[in-house]
Amino acid sequence: MSDCLHCEINQLVQECFERGDTDLAEIASMLVESLADLILLAPDSDRSNLMAHALSAFGQIFLEKGGAIDGNSNATHYGSGLPRLHVAVIASEADVSPAE
Ligand SMILES: [Zn+2]
Repeated sequence: MSDCLHCEINQLVQECFERGDTDLAEIASMLVESLADLILLAPDSDRSNLMAHALSAFGQIFLEKGGAIDGNSNATHYGSGLPRLHVAVIASEADVSPAE
């Protein structure tokens, strides 16, 4: 198994294809369900920000990988960066006192 969650998920999807499960809409729904489950692991107060981050990252990554925009990140691979970023978002918000 890879050390990268993204690559492990892609491997599982590949195994679905090899078994003959080729319903892309169903596979996409299951991946999105996993994302929803992940967001629900966050504290209530962090969920909306985490969901916004996830959707923003989705748009950015989708456009970059599809070649519609140039990636200006020096990362060629998001698999190991996003989970850390998610954790950082949760941790940084937990440490910040509410603004007056
Ligand atoms: Zn990966």
